[in-house]
Amino acid sequence: MHPRLAEDREELPKLLRDVQRHAASLLASLDERDVVPSPPVPPPTPLPARGVGLKATLEEFAERWEPTLSASAGPRYLGFVTGGATPAALAGDWLTSTWDLNAFSSLDGAGQHLERETITWLRGLFGLSDRHHGTFVSGATMSTTVGLATAREWLGERKGVSPAEDGVGALGPVRVLSGAAHSSVSKALSVLGVGRTALVPVDTLPGREAVDIAALERALREHQADGPCLVIANAGTVNTADFDDVLAICALRERYDFWLHVDAAFGAFAALSPDHAHLVDGLDAADSVCVDLHKWLNVPYDSAVQFTRRRDLQTAVFQNAAAYLGPLGDTPDTAHLTPENSHRLRAIAAWFTLRAYGRDGHREIVERSIACARTLGDAVDAMPELRLLAPVHLNVACFTLAEEPTAERLTALTDLLAAEVFLTPTVLDGVPALRAAFSNWRTDEPDIHRIITALQKALHKLQPS
Ligand SMILES: *Cc1c(COP(=O)(O)O)cnc(C)c1O
Repeated sequence: MHPRLAEDREELPKLLRDVQRHAASLLASLDERDVVPSPPVPPPTPLPARGVGLKATLEEFAERWEPTLSASAGPRYLGFVTGGATPAALAGDWLTSTWDLNAFSSLDGAGQHLERETITWLRGLFGLSDRHHGTFVSGATMSTTVGLATAREWLGERKGVSPAEDGVGALGPVRVLSGAAHSSVSKALSVLGVGRTALVPVDTLPGREAVDIAALERALREHQADGPCLVIANAGTVNTADFDDVLAICALRERYDFWLHVDAAFGAFAALSPDHAHLVDGLDAADSVCVDLHKWLNVPYDSAVQFTRRRDLQTAVFQNAAAYLGPLGDTPDTAHLTPENSHRLRAIAAWFTLRAYGRDGHREIVERSIACARTLGDAVDAMPELRLLAPVHLNVACFTLAEEPTAERLTALTDLLAAEVFLTPTVLDGVPALRAAFSNWRTDEPDIHRIITALQKALHKLQPS
């Protein structure tokens, strides 16, 4: 064995304690660290011929790279929709790597059973019935890709062909209807060979990102002659956390034949708050549902779930026949359910946080995020220099400058804020804007006051263009 490897094996308990101490001090520094630090990224160095062992590697990482990394695990990183990692989720994730299981086959171990138990708990959290089967994947984009791959096979079933066997060309034109679809939908359609231009944007309600049901019905009628469509409903849009009326979309099925995929990447968590649960009424009736866990469940990257009522079609697409793998059977191995074969047992982190904090703990996180978004929204509304662009429906506040809301001035504003808070730019209805998304369990009211103060100071410094 290489001497460095042998040494590290010998010293492993001590080395892991060093890493643990380092991790704990890092977490303790999250409040004070610059949210987006300014040091330049270190220049690349060539791969060293000789290894230095774990201890020196940790020191080099801490010195060269850590000063440049964003405090996205901390409470004031409000870009994208970026959750943190609860203590239990972090511990579960450490143990996932420690066990280093490949939970893709029933030929060994109970890993897949742990994943199934976690799926059952998650279904309960989101109000999904046991007609929905779930599988862990790496993110909402992958979840939507799997959901739409299953939908593609359903279109084939309706037309008496199998795209999985004969290729997507067997389908003819495909129409995918959605109001304010997330960008990941186009990516999924590209990967699936359906093509980005298959996405037909449907009008949203005035001043909203929620689909106009009458416009959706018109689009369904217009494309009826080409055969069934795919409809993607949005439960939580990224700009304003708006929700389509899923029940009304479901009602259209009485007259039109379509597959309903719901992108509930973070919006599914509305189900945890009694005051907001109505936003996801009808979710269970969807044919496939995408939910991210690395956002509002606060487990580390990368973790999401794909739910579908048609696991038979899912396996038609993803089955991986090999002599050494088990047969499909009634409960297919994960190798038959997703694009990957090898399968990180990422369910452990979700299992840990659900067990440690329960429904009530996760409800508290969700409700606190919503309260924080409201407080910031109210403060923005009260500042003459800013304009709130939509009511705070859930956990996102979307706003812009009252005067000269150009992308350049917004970038200047976020640059001034970088140490204290991270916001991401967007464009809403043609207007450049910023969004603050709340989904980290650490974020609390004192953070919002700090953010409001930082905003006021930055606005004071901001120059006219
Ligand atoms: C984040 C997000 C996605 C994409 O999720 P990834 O986990 O980054 O792949 C899709 N849809 C919505 C609504 C999202 O918020």
